[in-house]
Amino acid sequence: MTFIETRGNDGVKPAEVSFSEAILSPSASFGGLYVPKSLPTLDAAFWQTHRRSSYKTLCRALFEKFDVDVDEAVLDEALARYDRFDNPDDPVPLVKVADDAHVLELWHGPTRAFKDMALQPFGHVLSALAQKRGERYLIMAATSGDTGPATLETFKGAANVKVACLYPDGGTSDVQRLQMVTEEAQNEKVIGIRGDFDDAQTALKGLLASEAFKAKLQESGTSLSAANSVNFGRIIFQIIYHIHAYLRLVERGEIAMGEKIYIVVPSGNFGNVLGAYYAKKMGLPVEKLLISSNINNVLAELVTKGVYDLRDKKLVQTTSPAMDILKSSNVERVLFDKFGSARTKELMEQLSAEGYYRLSESELAKLREDFDGIDCTDEEGKAIIAECAEQGYITDPHTATCFKAYKNLREKPLKTVICSTAEWTKFSRTVAEALGERFEHDKEALAWVSERYGVKVPELITGLFEKPVVHKTVVDKARIEDEILAFI
Ligand SMILES: *Cc1c(COP(=O)(O)O)cnc(C)c1O
Repeated sequence: MTFIETRGNDGVKPAEVSFSEAILSPSASFGGLYVPKSLPTLDAAFWQTHRRSSYKTLCRALFEKFDVDVDEAVLDEALARYDRFDNPDDPVPLVKVADDAHVLELWHGPTRAFKDMALQPFGHVLSALAQKRGERYLIMAATSGDTGPATLETFKGAANVKVACLYPDGGTSDVQRLQMVTEEAQNEKVIGIRGDFDDAQTALKGLLASEAFKAKLQESGTSLSAANSVNFGRIIFQIIYHIHAYLRLVERGEIAMGEKIYIVVPSGNFGNVLGAYYAKKMGLPVEKLLISSNINNVLAELVTKGVYDLRDKKLVQTTSPAMDILKSSNVERVLFDKFGSARTKELMEQLSAEGYYRLSESELAKLREDFDGIDCTDEEGKAIIAECAEQGYITDPHTATCFKAYKNLREKPLKTVICSTAEWTKFSRTVAEALGERFEHDKEALAWVSERYGVKVPELITGLFEKPVVHKTVVDKARIEDEILAFI
């Protein structure tokens, strides 16, 4: 598999790159992204062969199909990261919650959010590539609460890699903050920013684009890279679990091989649902991908009305913060796939210059062949959490938004996979409030929900409250660069 650019080639960068090049230097010409030149097709033999394959076996088979430049030994070690999940034999459980609805729990990894599904193996791949090339990298991450812990977790102690992680001070849950500030690894630095997630993200983008900053890093032999969700090294791992979920449904006799399903994905930066889109293109029988948004509903609006309009929108903080986003990066990859590089460049430039773009009628129709979407308010989300709890299933506020999409958007009575992106323990105060009790701190909320509903809080979470705080730095935006350079 080689990679080409969503906005075409500028004549300076190479027109095609390998997988390892695309993940070490993820920015393409004109500010675009790398996308696979072509995707493999999964034929009938593949589906039959892997009916009962383990998750790792399926991963290996798909990597073989993708034909990327990652050594088999490196991939094996990367996949061994799934052994750290709750059940190594079943790292992504599929739980039946209704006759036709199954929840794919993507959060059984060390930081309890779906980011671990990709970042765990990806961290090993990236570090191995850096070692092989004898290069050193600084990975920068800005987080609203899930990417930060997952990035720190995957690179802790990694050879040839340092991590600088920016989070909005006061903008995350207690658990999310503790997951970051108690990190002991010497190669990692966590910095709180006075401001919101957008401030942290803007600061990160500024540094990623700053030649002066890069030159200073180079003085100590360090290159800059990013582990954010536009990195294809993450997307590739996010294709696999959608295929896995389908095969589980077949194996359990819920569907016949070839029968179509719906997949519901709570979306922010569009990386998770992009993985499902690529899986569909490779032959996964999907009727439609249903996107759920919170009231920052740019994605639902795009796939229903064909407009991406930021002009009268302001980011609103919700109880599903990982979806509080206005500029959703991975949408660009679908635009490219549907409409080509010239049109993608035009649309993305218009978005940047004028704050909006509008698809034509026929373009919208093409998008709607694969996608539909709906938004869900915090109040609706809470009602869903309470309703699920009544039926014995405790869900986090991101996953809760999916149930509205599941109830409203299906046009056919097909089996549905709901992607669950976080364990409730990361958002226990919201969950407790939905269930009728307000708490000031996560610790009390965790104990109350756990006791009252008989759900376990993993030691990974309870242990956080006992760990010493290592990272106490909280700074103004202007100080970030100096802090990072001092760390390097
Ligand atoms: C990151 C995240 C999302 C959004 O996923 P995207 O791939 O960015 O669309 C949704 N829910 C949770 C809990 C997340 O951590």
